[in-house]
Amino acid sequence: MNKLVLNSESLNNVLDNKVISRQSVIGIYQNAVEDPSELFSTAQNLRKKFKKDSVTFSKKAFFNIVNLCKDTCSYCTYKAEPKEEKLSLMSKQQILELLQLAKKYRCVEALFVTGEKPEQKYQEARDWLKENGFKSTTEYLIHASELALELGLFPHTNAGNLNFEEMKELKKTNVSMGLMLENVSERLTEKGMPHYLAASKRPKARLEVLENSGKLGIPMTTGILVGIGETVEEIIDSILAIKTLHKKYGNIQEVILQNFQPKPDTMMKNSPSADENYFKIIVALTRIIMPEMNIQIPPNLSPKSYQSFLSVGINDWGGISPLTPDFVNPEFSWPEIDKVDENSKNAGFELKCRFPIYPEFFSFISKELRDKMLVIENGEGLVKEEYWR
Ligand code: SF4
Repeated sequence: MNKLVLNSESLNNVLDNKVISRQSVIGIYQNAVEDPSELFSTAQNLRKKFKKDSVTFSKKAFFNIVNLCKDTCSYCTYKAEPKEEKLSLMSKQQILELLQLAKKYRCVEALFVTGEKPEQKYQEARDWLKENGFKSTTEYLIHASELALELGLFPHTNAGNLNFEEMKELKKTNVSMGLMLENVSERLTEKGMPHYLAASKRPKARLEVLENSGKLGIPMTTGILVGIGETVEEIIDSILAIKTLHKKYGNIQEVILQNFQPKPDTMMKNSPSADENYFKIIVALTRIIMPEMNIQIPPNLSPKSYQSFLSVGINDWGGISPLTPDFVNPEFSWPEIDKVDENSKNAGFELKCRFPIYPEFFSFISKELRDKMLVIENGEGLVKEEYWR
């Protein structure tokens, strides 16, 4: 590829592998609002340099283990109250049956999701745990993860702010774990803001969990929710905070950039969805801040245009399920894998199926887990084509 030479000195510095300051990033953002072309071509250039011509996804099944949650985020439609129809309290039998179905569909990832510490707030959650023979949601997740591994599926747990000991236990069976940082802004936790009623979303609490994941050497997925009333500085600070964590521990395996979409049954139902141009600029900024990071957008949240994000820096579509809905965004169904394959190809990229852990992070997990992966792994550390297609 020929070397790009741009008018922007800051972007030329990025291309020359120089570290750029927060102030330079803000300047790049301001220029991009007027004309994003130089930012986008820089992001594309870096993406091609570090991620070549492929785009990955994880073939998953979504296990909505328990959606009671002690917190309330203004944008969340996942959380249920005990009497609601959408309440999910999966029994051991339901988990087993869904795991068997997932295996039949040749899924690779078992995504285990729960609300935040449900048993601390709801008697229903305590009763559910007791009925199934567990003392805590984490204990239940350990059981579900063991079951998944036995069936040849690879667990990735996203259960909110787990403590150090809980994560240490889950590391034994989970090839990676997830926790969205969302945003590092304290302002977004103030009265009237989206995280006011969500203690677990306080930046300090969130960063501590991510720090612990680093100390434990857990390949970690994190990310940012874009378009929830943040300022540009706040979003840049959030990306920089992830970069700092990764520099310290080297365990952040991917950054999800999720564009806000208002949900009808939430407090933010009348807020506008994230503007697509703004979202693209944030995606491209993330690529220039962390040139080698795996950057993901969920294709179902940009159903008409997701493939255009390939040219502003992303290299992953995240988990796509052939059999379960996206319980976090129920009105946005996942596109069919064949369609994503076709759209990626039309944009000039080859679709590849990865494990819920990226190959660069294989050294973080145990030999037992690696041995199980080898059954369906190809020479690139990805999933054999004859398995997932
Ligand atoms: S986003 Fe997570 S923490 Fe917030 S209300 Fe929903 S389930 Fe609870």
